[in-house]
Amino acid sequence: MNISIFGSGYVGLVTAACFAEAGNEVICVDIDEARIQKLTEGHCPFYEPGVDDLLKRNVEAGRLRFTTDAKAAIDHGLFIMIAVGTPPDEDGSADLRHVLTVARTIGEHMKEYKVVITKSTVPVGSAEHVRRAVNETLSSRSENIEFDVVSNPEFLKEGSAVEDFMKPDRTIVGVDNPRTGELMRALYAPFNRSRDRVIVMDIASSELTKYAANAMLATKISFMNELSNLADRVGADIEAVRKGIGSDPRIGYKFIYPGAGYGGSCFPKDVSALSKTGEQVGYNMELVDAVNAVNHRQKQVLFDKIKAYFGDLSGKTIAIWGLAFKPNTDDVREAPARDLMEALWGAGAAVRVHDPEAMDTIRACYGEPENLTYCNSPAEATQGADALAILTEWKLYHSPNFEQLAETLTAKVIFDGRNLFDPAVVTRFGLEYHSIGRPVAK
Ligand code: NAD
Repeated sequence: MNISIFGSGYVGLVTAACFAEAGNEVICVDIDEARIQKLTEGHCPFYEPGVDDLLKRNVEAGRLRFTTDAKAAIDHGLFIMIAVGTPPDEDGSADLRHVLTVARTIGEHMKEYKVVITKSTVPVGSAEHVRRAVNETLSSRSENIEFDVVSNPEFLKEGSAVEDFMKPDRTIVGVDNPRTGELMRALYAPFNRSRDRVIVMDIASSELTKYAANAMLATKISFMNELSNLADRVGADIEAVRKGIGSDPRIGYKFIYPGAGYGGSCFPKDVSALSKTGEQVGYNMELVDAVNAVNHRQKQVLFDKIKAYFGDLSGKTIAIWGLAFKPNTDDVREAPARDLMEALWGAGAAVRVHDPEAMDTIRACYGEPENLTYCNSPAEATQGADALAILTEWKLYHSPNFEQLAETLTAKVIFDGRNLFDPAVVTRFGLEYHSIGRPVAK
């Protein structure tokens, strides 16, 4: 099949590479010329396991091409996918500017029937905006060409995006006629051979499903974070509580880890946008708002612990392990590490940072100020530091040399925002250990 995808970010590029791997002819379009140049030379512009191999293989085979030429891409694809960013607007609602720009571009260039698919996360009603934008541009050309709009939100996770796309738990398709539903089933058939995971529904429900999924996951995290703060105050151990409740299959063990707050490009903006959708129809999303508020507070918890320990932080140096918002990605959008770094700088401290993949993305945000030192290894980050803070649960950090840490850290103290260690082990080396929702271990 011929597929064109607008946007070559985490979603667009992975989608393009996976569809090409299944034998389709795919063109990926972006307005970022440098990115397209890099991709054409076979380099993935971000870190995502497995994408490099897919890119190389499919570009070489001629099934996957990159361009800035929107017209050529629209000529090529029967399926035109919109996978551009939908950042939060100033008021927290989803900014559809990029999505609608692409819709108008489609209307400007299409010459025959197209299936226009929105993969970006967009609020209920957006498919209608896309339809209107395409129609208006077609009318301005005095054209009346048939097309269908589809809502097909993406559920891949950064860090396991290829695996998620190739073996999806489900594929949500929102359509307004059965024929388009069948076309979409055919498009996704290669990824659904063992059993049919395509769920076809109406467009509004499909658009809402994506927000419902992300808000539910964010709720689980904020719930555990709220409980961890209570556990801190009543002398309970949140890790024991986690295991205790996770054993109930109605609750389950997944996504109930307490931590330093959720980040990334999706949960924070999607939770805010869902609340905004409620507001727009006169319905107060009380639970969703609380999830957001709890997360904002949680991103300060590790800083509060560090501040309470040191009192005055001016002149102190804190080593930070982990900058990405989660392991296996270089994405630092809304990462809790950034909140901590900024709070520490505000209090007069300096940071020495390490992350296996996200150093360049952090450098792109902050440059090279005096109070930020980029280090090549976790051990180098702790050199000359007073304390260590852990923000991302990369495997690399799970089993450190505690003896060396005790020798290196001036204050002999660890602040762990991911609860990676057994407190009894850490204290054996003479280190003090502060984690989330567990008693301080000395
Ligand atoms: P991204 O910021 O990584 O990439 C977006 C790309 O779109 C950029 O390369 C940008 O240059 C390009 N672009 C912008 N305007 C364009 C235009 N007019 N024509 C062509 N290209 C254009 O974004 P992302 O993380 O891939 O997210 C894309 C969408 O998918 C968002 O709505 C997001 O919420 C959703 N989503 C993201 C994830 C994720 O894990 N990142 C998962 C599921 C859904």
